Amino acid sequence: MIENSWREQLKYSRKTREDLNDFTLTESESAFFKYKGEMDKLPFMVNSYYSSLAENTPDDPIRRQFLPTINEYTVTDTELSDPLGEKQYTPVPRLIHRYRDRVLLLITDSCAMYCRHCFRRSFTGHNDGVVTSDELAAVCSYLSVHGEVNEILLSGGDPLTCSDGKIEEILKNIRSVRPDIAIRLATRIPVVLPMRITENLIGILSENGPVWLVTQFNHKNEISDLTEKKISSLIDKGIPVLNQSVLLKGVNDSVGALEELFQKLVRMRVKPYYLFQGDLASGTSHFRVPIERGREIMSQLRQRISGLALPVYAVDLPGGGGKIPLTENYAIRQDEQNYYFRNIEGRDYTYPREF
Ligand SMILES: *Cc1c(COP(=O)(O)O)cnc(C)c1O
Ligand code: SF4
Repeated sequence: MIENSWREQLKYSRKTREDLNDFTLTESESAFFKYKGEMDKLPFMVNSYYSSLAENTPDDPIRRQFLPTINEYTVTDTELSDPLGEKQYTPVPRLIHRYRDRVLLLITDSCAMYCRHCFRRSFTGHNDGVVTSDELAAVCSYLSVHGEVNEILLSGGDPLTCSDGKIEEILKNIRSVRPDIAIRLATRIPVVLPMRITENLIGILSENGPVWLVTQFNHKNEISDLTEKKISSLIDKGIPVLNQSVLLKGVNDSVGALEELFQKLVRMRVKPYYLFQGDLASGTSHFRVPIERGREIMSQLRQRISGLALPVYAVDLPGGGGKIPLTENYAIRQDEQNYYFRNIEGRDYTYPREF
């Protein structure tokens, strides 16, 4: 594959039913393309790199992430169009200031493909475009008077679908007002379009550091040789890489699938950071796994893999409640003297309250 072919990949993405003639569609997949109900048509787009990772079988974990089904037009009572209630935390256009010391900036509405489980589906694929120089100036002046902000997350959409020039402009402007800030880049590019990670891009990221890259691998089949090579180049140039998976029914909702994924990531020097419970984004109920089951998977994983390989299982509460860890509780009770714990083998231990 040619190093600079990423723009070609995007240009020739599959976007219609006809572009999928090499796939044998299931009834539910075909029905998506034939939908004529009253809801707005949902967008479909996948580049050929990502679709080539899938086997031509309906239950392939990669296919489930790019091939839509009619289920997406089913909106349940508990689902929301702004599942995280972010609108109330937007002091400047595109900037979300939800937690005291960190802000999130929506750089662009474009992605290298549309993930069928995406919780930002009310944002991606619409027409907000890329952050303008004026919008960026407003963000920078906000940052310059909010010294309590230690970290800025660049998100979207996918920030790495922007040109190198735009990315450099964003990083340099942020750096000029806040040389001390940590920049966290949230991107699925290493997974869905690794050829985008060029030498030039790596140079821009490493010159404007500290930049942390947070990506989203959901299954080990998403890790190609090219991906491994690109991740390695990023880390070699001083850009740490973390992973946030989403727990997805039919993709990775088993102990075996997650064990393989997390162990593989550790071998690639990528730290599994979060495993997210599915957000209540409309039309994604067919992907959601009950929290009960998520907890059961996590407790089995804890017995099988190292702490380094184990992410934090968390949920982003609907209505703007924020992220909370869904940790298992090992403290079974406490009294005036002690805490009482039950360990993973089921044996009981105490730890004193005071020394
Ligand atoms: C997830 C998120 C963050 C970052 O949270 P961490 O727990 O530090 O990863 C910051 N701002 C917003 C709005 C978020 O949704
Ligand atoms: S790349 Fe990220 S923002 Fe874009 S569709 Fe996929 S999950 Fe959503």
